[in-house]
Amino acid sequence: MNKFENKVVVITGAGGVICSTLAKALAKLGAKVMLLDINLEAAQEVEKEINKEGYISKAFKANVLEKDSLESVKEEINKEFGKVDILINGAGGNNPKATTNNEYHDNLSDKSFFDLDPKGVEFVFDLNFLGTFIPTQTFAKDMIGNTEASILNISSMNAYHPLTKIPAYSGAKAAVSNFTEWLSVHFSKVGIRVNAIAPGFFVTNQNRSLLFDKDGNPTPRTNKILSQTPMGRFGEVEELVDATLFLLDPVKASFITGVVLPIDGGFNAYSGV
Ligand code: NAD
Repeated sequence: MNKFENKVVVITGAGGVICSTLAKALAKLGAKVMLLDINLEAAQEVEKEINKEGYISKAFKANVLEKDSLESVKEEINKEFGKVDILINGAGGNNPKATTNNEYHDNLSDKSFFDLDPKGVEFVFDLNFLGTFIPTQTFAKDMIGNTEASILNISSMNAYHPLTKIPAYSGAKAAVSNFTEWLSVHFSKVGIRVNAIAPGFFVTNQNRSLLFDKDGNPTPRTNKILSQTPMGRFGEVEELVDATLFLLDPVKASFITGVVLPIDGGFNAYSGV
């Protein structure tokens, strides 16, 4: 029997590109997958796909920034499926209000650093950092003393080196990596391992318009990314699956906690020379 059979797995942002893929992989291994998303329809689509194959999942509307709504989802999960064993904190993203138009400051840009809206910056910090922190406070309570319990956060390349234009998203993901380490230490005596993956560049709904123009041609940013990625291509979302399963596996990764694993075709290792 694999180690995910009958495990109760909570995934936030489960209606999204990356987390729906992780959800399907875990469901196929016999986990009962709880699909939390602020966009209920998106989560329900994933639920439909999983359940029609005979696997077990359930969609819930939940905002990762609202503790009360998370608590009531937890209550429902506990009643119907039992205690939570695994949490994947997948909800996250950037916002145009926290993005400059230019890589370097000049006096011509219509959205320079000086124009960034603090509310946009706050939104991005809240979503990525508090959106990891609050669901952990909610669901990790079930995991105390469970030596097969595990938490996986989703960081990013920009946690290591900030990417141009997106200071808030870079800072917030750096905070997610830092929190992963902090939490791994904090929970080290009670059985919960805490790790993260740091995906490199994957084409998803969030970034498609930054990477390709409306005719599908690569933008200058795409050319830049690929020239800085030694493997010379974008990642496929499926390439995140086995690394995730490994980090969550209580046997294979039994002595691994506090790790942020880059899955990036070498982007983080490359100095550009
Ligand atoms: P996505 O936009 O496809 O999915 C994000 C999901 O989160 C969406 O379904 C959205 O509805 C949900 N969400 C947003 N706000 C929420 C909230 N307040 N409460 C609950 N759910 C909420 O994005 P994705 O590319 O699949 O990203 C998943 C994670 O991976 C994010 O944390 C992202 O920052 C991270 N990441 C993505 C990439 C990439 O290349 N796509 C790279 C590195 C890290």
